[in-house]
Amino acid sequence: MSSIEQNIKELKQQLGPSVKLVAVSKFQPNEKIMEAYNAGQRLFGENRPQEFEQKVKSLPEDIQWHFVGHLQTNKIKMVAPYAALIHSVDSEKLLFELEKFGAQNNLNIKCLLEIFIAKEQTKQGFTFSEAEELLERLRTAPLKNVTLCGVMGMATLTKDKEQISKEFTQLYSFFSRIKQRHLHLSEFKEVSMGMSEDFPIACRLGASIVRIGTKIFGEREYKE
Ligand SMILES: *Cc1c(COP(=O)(O)O)cnc(C)c1O
Repeated sequence: MSSIEQNIKELKQQLGPSVKLVAVSKFQPNEKIMEAYNAGQRLFGENRPQEFEQKVKSLPEDIQWHFVGHLQTNKIKMVAPYAALIHSVDSEKLLFELEKFGAQNNLNIKCLLEIFIAKEQTKQGFTFSEAEELLERLRTAPLKNVTLCGVMGMATLTKDKEQISKEFTQLYSFFSRIKQRHLHLSEFKEVSMGMSEDFPIACRLGASIVRIGTKIFGEREYKE
């Protein structure tokens, strides 16, 4: 058994049937993705529009692709037609451009709101209050071509498990609150949190989707 196959098997066992595994294949060559595919994996995630589009077009059609990276509005066309879910809607501008693109191309684009939960200022996303305020405004002007399916967040990169737990707990309780207050958002079901280093904590705290790269494929080879 290849190690990729082995890694996927072990992860699936650990995650159980209720948590979806996105295999984050950014920077990985198609051969490695096919190893995961041949081990039964059908859900993959990418974070750069060009690489995303290239892989979508060169790999098997029954793969479900999620987009997990920062998306500039001028690159929406490379991503939105092919993504089963965009995890990383991190601004109002992007959300409304997706709505516009969806209307123009007769698409329904599934998205998560990326929430800023980490201590690092480098990370992206809405604050809790920005997201809450946006959702209130959307009540009276609902989106037609974008479906909000939940939230995504990235914890601080730290060994401090308490800090990570705190951030994931905050994200999960935000999700629950929104779900209760916005019953009309019938597809608002997903909490995407947890990566190679912190997914066990995320799962314990309510993740429905984890995004895992290194633990499946090994270290990424960054080519400049
Ligand atoms: C790269 C990436 C991951 C996976 O990270 P690993 O630490 O390799 O598991 C998950 N989510 C996002 C948004 C990423 O960019």
